[in-house]
Amino acid sequence: MPELPEVETVRRGLAPVMEGQVIVKAEVNRPDLRWPFPERMAERLTGRRVLQLRRRSKYILADLDSGETLLIHLGMSGRMTVSGDPLGHFVHDHPAPEKHDHVVIHMESGARVTFNDPRRFGAMDLMPTATADRHKLLAVLGPEPLGNDFNAAYLAAAFRGKNTPVKAALLDQGIVAGLGNIYVCEALFRARISPLRKAGRIAAPRVAALVPAIRDVLDRAIAAGGSSLKDFRQADGELGYFQHSFDVYGREGAPCRTPGCTATIRRKVQSGRSSFYCSVCQR
Ligand SMILES: [Zn+2]
Repeated sequence: MPELPEVETVRRGLAPVMEGQVIVKAEVNRPDLRWPFPERMAERLTGRRVLQLRRRSKYILADLDSGETLLIHLGMSGRMTVSGDPLGHFVHDHPAPEKHDHVVIHMESGARVTFNDPRRFGAMDLMPTATADRHKLLAVLGPEPLGNDFNAAYLAAAFRGKNTPVKAALLDQGIVAGLGNIYVCEALFRARISPLRKAGRIAAPRVAALVPAIRDVLDRAIAAGGSSLKDFRQADGELGYFQHSFDVYGREGAPCRTPGCTATIRRKVQSGRSSFYCSVCQR
């Protein structure tokens, strides 16, 4: 399942082929994904210039010159592929259509952006750009973890009096947008906070340390995704999935990487999700 760094990598891969370009044709090959597509979606995309490609949480937002914004959500298994770009960002040809190519967007340059989603948990929607923040999927989101509104004072206020484990609090999209299981595990390890600790019971300096820890794990993953883009251009044009090494995630039973720590990484299921942590380093 793509997390925020993967989605940001997709956005960065799509930007050079979509921004400033006119959509000459949009193929919409089924009526819905997770939800029905908006009415006349193909018509509303055709002939429109993409002004900019933004990201909010795990959503990609394409602002169009019609005053509408296209929202794209990759869901569990959504993939974006770019092909046939004569500008040279992606060198491979258009592939044969695949079974789950649900939406194909043809740009004026000749490039094609294909959305393929076998499990169909993804989504696309159109809304007025001016009120995009009030879209039902976006209105409920807390601040961006890499934005200025996410800071020590904000997080301390959000955690105050909270009896839920800090792990659950950080996965709460209303507290901070776009954080998923992997990067919460990694950030808590970096901040040396146990995922089991109650959010309201963490001392202020430790809450403050969590902010740079979160930013750091995300920044590093986004950097890894950025360097992966070159390979994707040369391979099959699929964006956003890249190899990245984690300190705790997926490392149950492996030695803790903190210098001098002899413990092994533990796994514990919290609200149905695996938490990976070092019970010595993280308190
Ligand atoms: Zn340790």
